[in-house]
Amino acid sequence: MIKKIIDENKIQEVKKAFNDAQKVVIVAHVGPDGDALGSSLSLWHYLRKKEKKATIIFPSPYPDFIGWIAGAEHSLIYTLHKKQSEKAIEECDLIVAVDFNTPKRLDTLATPIVNSTAKKIMIDHHLHPDTDFAQTIISHPEIASTSELIFRILHRIDNIENISKECAEALYTGMMTDTGAFTYNSNNHDIYIIIAELLKKGIDKDAIYRKVFNTFSADRIRLQGYCIYEKMKIYPEYRTALITLSQKEQQQFNFQNGDAEGFVNIPLSIKDVVFSVFMREDTDKIKISLRSQGTFPSNQFASNIFNGGGHLNASGGESYLTMKETVDKFEKALPTFKEELLK
Ligand code: 5GP
Ligand code: MN
Repeated sequence: MIKKIIDENKIQEVKKAFNDAQKVVIVAHVGPDGDALGSSLSLWHYLRKKEKKATIIFPSPYPDFIGWIAGAEHSLIYTLHKKQSEKAIEECDLIVAVDFNTPKRLDTLATPIVNSTAKKIMIDHHLHPDTDFAQTIISHPEIASTSELIFRILHRIDNIENISKECAEALYTGMMTDTGAFTYNSNNHDIYIIIAELLKKGIDKDAIYRKVFNTFSADRIRLQGYCIYEKMKIYPEYRTALITLSQKEQQQFNFQNGDAEGFVNIPLSIKDVVFSVFMREDTDKIKISLRSQGTFPSNQFASNIFNGGGHLNASGGESYLTMKETVDKFEKALPTFKEELLK
């Protein structure tokens, strides 16, 4: 049996909201990842099976390596489908926000969502949820993925028969991507009971792994080689690694959305590296990904230095300085975290 970690009152609130609603809008965070797609699409499949009109709106496009999940092609991208998205928000009677803790993570989609008078439910696993945002907040930072939370909700509000194979595939994809294919944040044994249930639905977990992880372009693999060989800097005294990537370098490798996904994890496979940071120059800012292993709080580094946040071992932030200034800021900050880095 799976442990009931979500409060029964909240389960009942969600059940009632799903029953009462006719038109549901589902939103996830900007730069949607596997868990953002997995949680929103699983919910979409479920609600459609219940004969609800459901519309997913992502603030920005999702990368190709998760674009194959059934139903993804029906979702709206706010930056590309502004009018249609706003119409859906205007007409809906329920908004379900998945895999983010504050409307800031919706980018420009925040305004129409926050201004909507529809009932709002937030389902998420990031720390410190913005409690003003939604009437019902299901926040469980101890759970590895929002997709896992969606499974936990669906199997309590409904019969497992109403989870379709497509829904199960989306759930598995989210659970897999937020745990690095079950290599971190994945010691909770419930995860494997849930996977067994999803397998009973007929999903092919090995094919899902291949579709997500083995579909890179040659350019992407070359870029990865370049980042490791030319751009990786190790700070042995801080057990830290840094990789930076400029716009110009991205152009050299015909950079596509999502091509740098996972680069930040690579230096953690070096013996004694416990903290890894990846900085990628975007059109208007530098996007920073931070990862750690063990007890080092990458999210504290992200929030103190780069105005970001996230989980203990996986977090992000941004910088509006030049790359050089951003690296300087990073290098200045390392000594202030020395004690925790060497723990
Ligand atoms: P990634 O490095 O994959 O973009 O992000 C990893 C995690 O860090 C995300 O799941 C999210 O929790 C968090 N994160 C990423 N970017 C930001 C940001 O700009 N602000 C905050 N607060 N969290 C972020
Ligand atoms: Mn997530």
